[in-house]
Amino acid sequence: MSISSLMPVYPRCAFRPVRGEHCHLIGEDGRRYLDFASGIAVNLLGHSHEGLIGAIQQQAATLMHVSNLYGSPQQESVADRLVELTFADTVFFTNSGAEAVECAIKTARAYHQHVGNLDKYELITFKEAFHGRTLGTISASNQEKMHKGFLPILPGFKYVDFGDLEAVKAAIGPNTGGILIEPIQGEGGVKVPTDEFLQALRALCDEHDLMLIFDEVQCGVARTGTFFAYEQFGVVPDILASAKGIGGGFPLGACLATEKAARGMVAGTHGSTYGGNPLGMAAANAVLDAVANEPFLAHVRDMSAKLTGRLEQFIGNYPDMFELVRGRGLMLGLKMKMEPRPFVAHLRDNHQLLCVSAGDKTMRILPPLVIDESHIDEFMDKLSAGAASYSPEEAA
Ligand SMILES: *Cc1c(COP(=O)(O)O)cnc(C)c1O
Repeated sequence: MSISSLMPVYPRCAFRPVRGEHCHLIGEDGRRYLDFASGIAVNLLGHSHEGLIGAIQQQAATLMHVSNLYGSPQQESVADRLVELTFADTVFFTNSGAEAVECAIKTARAYHQHVGNLDKYELITFKEAFHGRTLGTISASNQEKMHKGFLPILPGFKYVDFGDLEAVKAAIGPNTGGILIEPIQGEGGVKVPTDEFLQALRALCDEHDLMLIFDEVQCGVARTGTFFAYEQFGVVPDILASAKGIGGGFPLGACLATEKAARGMVAGTHGSTYGGNPLGMAAANAVLDAVANEPFLAHVRDMSAKLTGRLEQFIGNYPDMFELVRGRGLMLGLKMKMEPRPFVAHLRDNHQLLCVSAGDKTMRILPPLVIDESHIDEFMDKLSAGAASYSPEEAA
């Protein structure tokens, strides 16, 4: 037998983390890495946050899991808080981002089908989007590398260029039921649309009775310096998918919707065995306690301004390597003039710095939101040393 016991779907690197300490990860070999990847925008409180650990420990000892057949004071408390903090009137809890997007897609279809509009099942989505790895969510993206081997994908999605309003207008037809977009495209390369673009999508949705769905799995939960990113664009969605940061490392997602948008999500239409279990809710409450307040959000914006300023200054020293810095809050992208993947590996293997590569030749910088200036100093030292010691020919 030559297959590994772990199904080999990830091209895993040699780094094998076994312990986390605040903004650092420690490998099996005892080496310490600065974690500016955060489990891909998940560990927003870093790796050893006392409030989060304590909440999970206490809940584990009290009640770990019960069925969604029973009343849930734990879910009600988190749902109430999310409703209070956002545009939404109602929340469904999931275990992952893809499941939150699945719920969003089903909510949009059900909005129309609940009143007999069986034709309006199609969603307009955006090229290079990432919405997860289920059949539904890979079908929502045009990325063929995610479709390959898993055909046929599901019908009901039409892809247009990110930011191209005319293409969106042209794509609207009798089958269109909504628009699904990451308000900041994450794995596509940390692409920020204009306020006007998202506002125009809102107007189109209002005009044609379409559901506007924001996938904030990556950009949500304080990551960009507001609780959700949509707040910065002057636009509210009808439905929003959240995950990643919302559990701070505990697997958790949520689909938020207005009362109107959720009209088809009636008893018996959807479900999840684990979704919203008490352990996940304890984690979410601890995360919300830490991040859903103005001083914390101001800290994220402050760290963002400092880190962005340092990065912009730095890339001037390497005009052949780096093109620009983009993003919001602590969801930053360094657009390179070469493929970022080998450089990200170089930073990891030779300078013990963890970042994440993305599309459009962009390196993602996703630190825990609890960094302070000492972490920015350490990051810039490692990045500078990494750029100085890098030769793409060697890496290739
Ligand atoms: C990570 C991600 C997902 C999928 O989340 P999973 O928890 O891996 O299923 C969906 N949408 C966006 C924008 C993401 O970044």
